[in-house]
Order: sequence, then structure tokens, then C-alpha cells
Amino acid sequence: MTLYEFCPKCATPLVMRIDDAKERPVCPSCGFVHYHNPAPAAGAVVFDNGRLLLVKRAHEPYVGKWTIPAGFMEWGESPEETTVRELKEETNLDVEIQGLFHVYAGSDDPRTRAVLILYFARSVAGEVIAGDDASEAKWFALDELPSDDEIAFESHRRAIARLKRNHPGLFTP
Ligand SMILES: [Zn+2]
Repeated sequence: MTLYEFCPKCATPLVMRIDDAKERPVCPSCGFVHYHNPAPAAGAVVFDNGRLLLVKRAHEPYVGKWTIPAGFMEWGESPEETTVRELKEETNLDVEIQGLFHVYAGSDDPRTRAVLILYFARSVAGEVIAGDDASEAKWFALDELPSDDEIAFESHRRAIARLKRNHPGLFTP
């Protein structure tokens, strides 16, 4: 799959050429190389009293499904900054990053392939209020977690399964 048929800089039709050991669309006129890289996203697993914070998607894709709060990195942001910003936008919480949880490659977002960087974080201020891309934000105890078909994205399903498997203590009130 390629994003561009024509050079985004000079509008010449792109041609396939080997660049850096891989065939990529290249502009024969100005030399532009269309690197098609996945987009990095970042977010955090936040617990309160044994409950995990999830948000319900307000927009497609997967509108109405639950996810760990996360979003795509903006140009110039660190993944930690993305995480703090997304948590504020989607849940109204001010969070502090505690450490890296896990990293996932995602291929089931129709917009782009993603690399999801998830941290452990804790809430330091604010009450949960859903906002921005989230229609709901809610704390879930272990026995209240949405089922897999109610969770958007394979990477988020795997992350929640990993939390249950490797960090059961976090679900202890
Ligand atoms: Zn060009």
C-alpha cells in the first residue's frame, strides 16, 4: 500500500526503486523517497484502588469500543509528553509517568499502522471527565473489564490480557 501516486513536493509520478535495500516509491525528478513508516502512539495504564482506567471511543474507527487512553504522537513531542497530553484530553487526569509497560505493533487501525508505547502512570490531580476523542472514561475492576469484542484494537486487547497475566496485583483494591 502506498499513500502517494505523485511526488508531494513536485507532482511528478512516483516510480518504484530500491532504496536502502527495500523497494519504495521514489520521485525520478527531485529524488523524494516515500518512506511508509508506522505512526507512533503513546498512552498509559492508570490504576486507582485496583481499577483500570479505560476510555470509550467517540469516533471511528471502532466507535463505542473501549481502549486504554492513548493517542498519536504530535511532531516535536516525546512519548511521555504525548501520554500526559492524551490522558488530560481524554480523561481530564493529570498523570505522572512511572515507567514503561510494553510496546506493541498494531496493524488493525484502518488509518495507519501504529507502534503503541504504553507506560504505567498514576493520577496526581483531577477527576475523571471524558473529553476529546472519548465519549466515556471509567475505572474498571478486574471482574468489570469489557470483553475482547468490546475493546478496540488487538494491541489494547493484548495489553489488558498482559496486565491481568503479569500484574494481577494492580487489580487488587
Ligand atoms: Zn519530486
